[in-house]
Amino acid sequence: MNTPPPLLLRNATLLDGRTGIDLLAQGGLITALGPALPAVDGAEVVDAAGALLSPPFIDAHFHLDAALSHGLPRVNASGTLLEGIRLWGELKPLLTEEALVERALTYCDWAVARGIGAIRTHADVCDERLLAVRALLQVRQQVAPYLDLQLVAFPQDGLLRSPGAMANLQRALDLGVDVVGGIPHFERTQAEGAESVRLLCELAAARGLPVDMHCDESDDPMSRHIETLALHTQRLGLHGRVTASHATSMHSMDNYYVSKLLPLLAEAGLQVVANPLINITLQGRHDSYPRRRGMTRVPELLAAGVNVGFGHDCVMDPWYALGSADMLEVAAMGLHVAQMTSQAGTRQCFDAVTVNNARVLGLPLGAGGYGVEVGCRADFVLLQAASPAEALRLRAQRLLVVRGGRVLSRMPPATALLGLPGRPTFVDFTRHPAG
Ligand SMILES: [Zn+2]
Repeated sequence: MNTPPPLLLRNATLLDGRTGIDLLAQGGLITALGPALPAVDGAEVVDAAGALLSPPFIDAHFHLDAALSHGLPRVNASGTLLEGIRLWGELKPLLTEEALVERALTYCDWAVARGIGAIRTHADVCDERLLAVRALLQVRQQVAPYLDLQLVAFPQDGLLRSPGAMANLQRALDLGVDVVGGIPHFERTQAEGAESVRLLCELAAARGLPVDMHCDESDDPMSRHIETLALHTQRLGLHGRVTASHATSMHSMDNYYVSKLLPLLAEAGLQVVANPLINITLQGRHDSYPRRRGMTRVPELLAAGVNVGFGHDCVMDPWYALGSADMLEVAAMGLHVAQMTSQAGTRQCFDAVTVNNARVLGLPLGAGGYGVEVGCRADFVLLQAASPAEALRLRAQRLLVVRGGRVLSRMPPATALLGLPGRPTFVDFTRHPAG
């Protein structure tokens, strides 16, 4: 792609509350940021009109191989994780590479329009053809100019439980998949689960790759593979490169045990990704009442110094019929489920779909990388909101999505035209008397 002209954004609001800020993007980078920047010859000028300037949303946990397959070949009647896995098993032999690529590309379009700049997606390797891996490698290359994809080699049916899974996983890594995945709680026994964690961490260490496992996606408080993951992270010196996704069993664990576990996770530099929409939907399915929420202990993990991100996980697939690539919806659900309603908690939920997820993906932060600062890549999204809290409240419209200084997507502000007698004509949900 040729270089876009300079882009001068006028009158934006920053996440830290500073208003009236201009941004200049040139040569793919943010070259100036501050009030009343001088005009630039040939620049495209965009009036932000006070809208909120954020770095792009990042999705730290997704299944692009299953996305948009809802109803193929049937829908999940029970709504459980295990029926979803069975249903995916029925669908797998029917998949074609072309159809999978087409669905994945469609989802990537949705993601870009919603201001997502990078997605870590799992790719099922429990298939001799490695069809999902091949399709997503093709998609990764095709979308690279406008969206970063990271692929995780994910043994959906169990590394040790599914014949050939280890060989297939290694073949996937040989083909260029970025991250080592796993699913210890789905192995036949606790011992096999622990063995799978050891094998996968050693494989990642040998290949110099990060690890991101589905870990303890269960309501069983005795599902404690996360401690084994922390142990091998520590032993192999993989600090900062290992992620435990879901970790829902922590919701149901004994408080005393958790008080020992959290410092171990922090010590190992383990990162945790919760998937609020999916956790609240799939967990607690075997409960009557009270029915557990099933999301991991987000505020407690953060307080212990563990980086926590939020993922979308599923959109219109065997596990979840809903979703629209909206990371603000993900963050808002996380806020509700974890009751992170304080001002600080609200901001933490916004961070969980932006900078925290950038850390999970290992994206460089600051100069030349992620962030809205001079020297960072000119990747940002303009939200129709005055603050991160308002963006969450409104699932704010993405007015402008920019990558490398190039405008990828524009949306008109969300307003309604009312015809009520004696009432104002325009409804704007960002304007309220107290504000
Ligand atoms: Zn998942």
